[in-house]
This record gives sequence, structure tokens and C-alpha cells, in this order.
Amino acid sequence: MKTWFITGASSGIGRILTEQLLAQGHRVAATLRRTEVLDALKAKHGERLWVARLDVTDAAQVEAVVGRAFTELGRVDVVVSNAGYGVFGAAEETEDAQLRRVLDTNLLGSIHLIRAFIPRLREQGGGHILQVSSEGGQMAYPAFSAYHASKWGIEGYVESVAQEVAPFGIALTLVEPGPTRTNFGDNLVRTRELAVYAPTPVGAVRAALANGSFEINGDADKTARAIIDVAEETPAPRR
Ligand code: NDP
Repeated sequence: MKTWFITGASSGIGRILTEQLLAQGHRVAATLRRTEVLDALKAKHGERLWVARLDVTDAAQVEAVVGRAFTELGRVDVVVSNAGYGVFGAAEETEDAQLRRVLDTNLLGSIHLIRAFIPRLREQGGGHILQVSSEGGQMAYPAFSAYHASKWGIEGYVESVAQEVAPFGIALTLVEPGPTRTNFGDNLVRTRELAVYAPTPVGAVRAALANGSFEINGDADKTARAIIDVAEETPAPRR
């Protein structure tokens, strides 16, 4: 049995991962903004499911919840930094608040989490942090510029920090799912609609999203299983 810590456990990949881990006998620290969503799962799994309210954009809250997880659970073996969402629309249409919020969540939120875990994993002798990025963390579609900026940003951060912390027995791994069936599409923030973009690739992507022809071929179950498989390769803590 390992202890896993997951952000964004209310929905999609984070939710399914939580369910799969509990079914396999692991202990899960599930963090999310709407804790009531996990009430039924908590009633079923009792002590193996630790639940805490967490908005990753709040650095102080991240530090407090990660600290509480170690105090109450003793250790954390695997961390999945999963919370995130997308913004869709032309770069020129994207408002400052939309840009800042997605960077606060996908980029800075993940950084807050990784930073809070490093000293504690070092202290316990090692562990594994999996950062859910996206295939959009290494390639780009039109009309997803703010999202790509957040995911390319976190990939650079992880690539750098992974080298710093490897000597402490801490592994950092990027997970890059392709389009996956979750609530991601429903939670996509759309920017203003400017007709001028209709004939451009932005318009084409928008039309494909609107008529449902944007191919979403990934299965969240499969993504969650892949995350568990990667974690099975975690280097053993040194002490
Ligand atoms: P969902 O929308 O189903 O789940 C997203 C989760 O992130 C929800 O639990 C949501 O919480 C949470 N979240 C959003 N903002 C915050 C925040 N500020 N603090 C804490 N939690 C937050 O989408 P997915 O499961 O698909 O997304 C999970 C990850 O996978 C994301 O990082 C996404 O970028 C990535 N991804 C998804 C792909 C896809 O096609 N689905 C493809 C590639 C990567 P709440 O329920 O409260 O809104």
C-alpha cells in the first residue's frame, strides 16, 4: 500500500485515478475544491481516503494542506499534480484576467505544490511527483495559446527541478495525455467571439469544437492506469 496525494480529485482524470487507487488498496489523500463530491466514496473507504479542501491557486493553502497530510498520514509516496483547465480563443481575444487565472492554476498552482513537497519528500528519503501536463505541453494548436503557455511553462519547470531533486531520491515525471473524455471540455473558458477569425485556423478549431468533431479519443480510465504504471517505477526511498 502506498499513500498518494492528488489535486483536482473532484472530476475527470483525478477522480478516476482516486477510485482506481482505492480499488487497488492504496491510501489516497484526495484534494479538491468541492469536498462534498467525495462524500459517498469517503463513506465506502473510510480511513484509506483522506479528503482536504484545496484550491491550488492559494499558495498558503497548498503549504498548509501538504503539511497537514504529512502530520496526519505520516508520509506521502506519490504526488499527482493534476488540477487544471483550458482557455479557448484567439490570443488577441484573451483577456488579462483569463490569462492570469489559467497561469495561476496550471503553472503557479503546480509550482506551489511541487515546492511544498520537495523538502518533505527529501526529509522522508524520497518519493515521486507526477505532473499532469498535456500533449499540448510540447506541441500547439491554434486558439489554445494561454493553455499552451501554462503547460509549456510547467514542463520547463519540471525538467529543471527534476535534475535538482534526483540526488535526494525524488523523481519528477511529466504525464502528457492527449484529448481525453472528462469534464475538460465543459470547463473550458471561452474568450470573446470575433467573427474576423472565422476563416482562420482559430475559426476552424472553434467550429470543430462546436459541432463535436474535435476528436476526443482518450479514455480517462486508461490515462489513470498509465499514471499508476509510471508510479510503480518510483525509485525506492533511500531510508
Ligand atoms: P476535468 O475538468 O474533468 O478536471 C479538472 C480538475 O481540476 C477538477 O477536479 C477541477 O476542480 C480541478 N481544478 C481546476 N482548477 C482548480 C484549482 N484552482 N484548484 C484545485 N482544483 C482545480 O478535466 P481533466 O480531468 O481532463 O483535467 C485534469 C488535468 O488533465 C488538467 O491538468 C488538464 O489540463 C489535463 N489534460 C486533460 C486533457 C483532456 O483532454 N481531458 C488532455 C491533456 C491534459 P473543480 O471540479 O472544482 O472545477
